Amino acid sequence: MNIVVLRETQAGEARIALMPESIKKLIALKATVLIESGAGLGAARSDDDFREAGAEISTDRNALLESADVLAAVNRPKEEDFNRLKKGAVVIGFLRPLDEPKTLQPALTRGLTTFAVELIPRITRAQSMDALSSMATVAGYKAVIIGAEKIPRMFPLLMTAAGTVPPARVLVLGAGVAGLQAIATARRLGAVVEGYDVRAAAGEQVKSLGATFLEVDLGGIKTEDAGGYAVELSDEAMNRGRALIAEHARQADIIITTAQVPGRRAPLLITEQAVEGMKRGSMVIDLAGATGGNCALTKADETVERNGVTIIAPTNLAATVPVHASQLYSRNVTAFLTPIIKDGQLQIDMNDDVVGPSCVTHDGQVVNKRVASLLT
Ligand code: NAD
Repeated sequence: MNIVVLRETQAGEARIALMPESIKKLIALKATVLIESGAGLGAARSDDDFREAGAEISTDRNALLESADVLAAVNRPKEEDFNRLKKGAVVIGFLRPLDEPKTLQPALTRGLTTFAVELIPRITRAQSMDALSSMATVAGYKAVIIGAEKIPRMFPLLMTAAGTVPPARVLVLGAGVAGLQAIATARRLGAVVEGYDVRAAAGEQVKSLGATFLEVDLGGIKTEDAGGYAVELSDEAMNRGRALIAEHARQADIIITTAQVPGRRAPLLITEQAVEGMKRGSMVIDLAGATGGNCALTKADETVERNGVTIIAPTNLAATVPVHASQLYSRNVTAFLTPIIKDGQLQIDMNDDVVGPSCVTHDGQVVNKRVASLLT
């Protein structure tokens, strides 16, 4: 069985789906691993590193695609790549099945078995496969580092002979995986941090990191689903949150926003007026830019200036820390593949409570009900 890894072609992408340490594990399961030459360079791994791990290297991308039983990818392959895969081949990667379902049509037509890492259920058994959490961890960390570099102030409280330097104030909106990592990183650098989330459970986690949790009275409404994800809120509830955020935004040096509702546009948390109330030299780092942004002025992957406030929305921060992002992702993909490889062959059990829900297309059908409903 051939597991193939290609060079990622998306602009700005430096990650690779499988790193050498994972390849050794897959080869121990009697799989053959083939890598496109140069695919690891962005993640500081040479062709020789992959050869040493037991992989074969090829410069012929099309031949690799045609020989693949499994294509392990970071980003969704392009249509022409899907079209070169053989019927029944498996593709695993960030396929964006909920926000861009139509782009999976070629995989459907081609009879491919596609697994979207975004759909891997967040159950205990699948924690080691949770690529969303891995990438969110990297993004939350990097957002703070970018903010620390860009604002015209220092983070920690300093008592010097020339007087006291007050600590930076960081406000983090959305205290999921990325938000909590941003809070922890900003605290380590010495900032005073506030966190906000609609899920009450997030409050304890925010406080345990030494930050203050901003509470808004939502009148006891349901804010999360059975899977622990936030649900879309009413306009009234959203407006209460926005008013609280606008008030705290006035003192913030950096606001990092990470709020998402799976399969929906990102909730709008920072209004234009809230930005206008912010200090000169402060900034908003919006990590929800790919799904519309949490700030009214956000433009994905662009820098916007308003009255001395800078708003940025990098959509692929994980790719800017390619070594660790690839290492984590590679372990996630390997943890997913390992139980479905038996004696060097794929044995896919769609009744498995991790494999079934992660599958988008199989045998010419859209098997995921949520994705199917988006396509009709
Ligand atoms: P996410 O990326 O979907 O959203 C980020 C955060 O935004 C969430 O905390 C969400 O509550 C918040 N949010 C949504 N709408 C908001 C609004 N209007 N205002 C403020 N905040 C809003 O979330 P995630 O980081 O993927 O985590 C989602 C949940 O899954 C969390 O409960 C997390 O602890 C849980 N989780 C569980 C596992 C596991 O058990 N294996 C792993 C990772 C995450």
